[in-house]
Amino acid sequence: MTEPTMTTHVPLEGLDDWRRSHTCGELRAAHVAARATLMGWVHRSRDHGGVLFIDLRDRYGITQVVFRPETSGVELLTRAEQLGNEWVIAVRGEVARRPADALNPELATGDVELEVKELKILSSSDPLPFQVNDELNLANEDLRLRYRYLDLRRPELAAVFALRHKAAMSARAYLSSQNFLEIETPLLVKPTPEGARDYIVPSRIHHGKFYALPQSPQLYKQTLMIAGCDRYFQLARCLRDEDLRADRQPEHTQIDIEMSFVTETEVFAAVEGLYVALWRECLGVTLNTPFPRMTFREAMSRYGSDKPDVRFGLELVDVTEICAQSPRNVVANGARAAGGIAVAMTIPDGAGISGTQLRKFEDVVKAAGAGGLTFFKVLAADREKQQVIFPGVLLEEFLGRCGAKDGDAVVFTNGPWERTCKALGVLRSQLGQAELESRGLIGASPDRQEWRFLWVRQFPLFEWNEDAKRWEPKHHMFTMPNPEHLDYLETDPGKVVAQLYDLVLNGTELGSGSVRIHRPDIQERVMKVIGLTREQAYEKFGFLLDAYRYASPPHAGIGLGFDRIVMLMAGRDNIRDTIAFPKTASATNLMDDSPSVAEPEQLKELGIRLV
Ligand code: ASP
Repeated sequence: MTEPTMTTHVPLEGLDDWRRSHTCGELRAAHVAARATLMGWVHRSRDHGGVLFIDLRDRYGITQVVFRPETSGVELLTRAEQLGNEWVIAVRGEVARRPADALNPELATGDVELEVKELKILSSSDPLPFQVNDELNLANEDLRLRYRYLDLRRPELAAVFALRHKAAMSARAYLSSQNFLEIETPLLVKPTPEGARDYIVPSRIHHGKFYALPQSPQLYKQTLMIAGCDRYFQLARCLRDEDLRADRQPEHTQIDIEMSFVTETEVFAAVEGLYVALWRECLGVTLNTPFPRMTFREAMSRYGSDKPDVRFGLELVDVTEICAQSPRNVVANGARAAGGIAVAMTIPDGAGISGTQLRKFEDVVKAAGAGGLTFFKVLAADREKQQVIFPGVLLEEFLGRCGAKDGDAVVFTNGPWERTCKALGVLRSQLGQAELESRGLIGASPDRQEWRFLWVRQFPLFEWNEDAKRWEPKHHMFTMPNPEHLDYLETDPGKVVAQLYDLVLNGTELGSGSVRIHRPDIQERVMKVIGLTREQAYEKFGFLLDAYRYASPPHAGIGLGFDRIVMLMAGRDNIRDTIAFPKTASATNLMDDSPSVAEPEQLKELGIRLV
């Protein structure tokens, strides 16, 4: 940190009896001839041959204030000429209509300006580390995070926080109207297993014992259902000590929801209603409901992803049967024997794609786990060599199955179902981005976006962790298996499909939830699969297991990433833009310099010795 200089450039004044009459976003033609007192920051100033124009800014907007020798007096003009960018001033004067050639339709206040008669310099600024009025936003992000209070002054970023507030208020109003109660759950908690690392907080009173910061309110919201709360929500802070990716932060906010006496159907309806309200109130956009639903199996098979972007087609096609008849495609036969498949994707008008480019596609799917990639150009001239793979009518059957027409390209590969679909799904996403770009949807303003929400449901309950050689819950261990799959818990956990769902928007996962296990007997069986003994489970969350003994209503819920919702609504691509004081990728806060060292005294009190 640099030493503060606290430079005073000029004599500063207090507010005295001055009060704002209007904000900097308020004055219009109707105010012409009125007296006004404005206060704000000097956004930029322009000297036009002895006349000084200042764009005065506050959270509400920008107003042009003008110092002319004839209206302001020479002395005032001279003082105003000392003002630097971002100084805080108060001005008093008369609202005037701008000359016709000086109207600014870009600005809400652009019809008028304030002819300044009096000026107070309330606060001056050190030289700025970067310009707040730089619309191109050229400063590097570390610098902006270090001086976050300057960064947050930028109108573009301030607008994101106004939107965030509006979204929070809409969410609260909608959920309240549906009988949900907002209840705060504790921040110092027993660890909540969500699969990430906990932040832990040492106890001063109980040396050697620790609280965890909640990865989510999961255990507590379920306990609230047992407590009879019926419908809960919270804009909940969730803390996870994970390695950060571009769209992750150690602290994030969820719209956390839990409901009693429901199945997924009612959760979907409540959440759809919530998004309809958010999009209507924050963006003025009408969303159609119900959102489409598909199973995990269908999403993977058709799109090669459990969070498919359905704004573009490029669907995958199962061509296992046809490939199995190919004399050449021995790999497909082998794959099929091992429960694998052959999958194809048609690239419309792809016949013109160069061989080099097609080989790049192969690199993409290989890096994503596929064995290789075969490509056909659907051109009469290429038919003969393709017949080597698909003799006779088989070729037409193959192309027909792929929905390919002359001028297209078809790419296909084979191997184990999930891995193969996923690999081709990666290529699908890349090609889709190009399509979205050509349709002008990348970076388009929210009112020109296509919002394709959908539910992906019926995920497998467990995932095999190859390193640890054990089953782990795909979501969390409180998720209810399908009743018809309960018997697989002991015999074939990989086959257990659960009442687990994700909400997806344009290829982004917005949140996950599930119908919960409300019966202790089933909960115990699930814990056994993941290798958790009764004792360990009691140690970790005995209170919830205890509570189950006193009768739990069937319940279900979801956690929806709020920062991400705001990011998408604001048309931003960086989650940090939606969090007032975010952390860097190495989990530091460049503004307050946290994490920082603790005083030896503090450590002593906590019974902690650093090694
Ligand atoms: N607690 C879950 C999560 O944070 C959400 C839920 O199941 O409600 O992902």
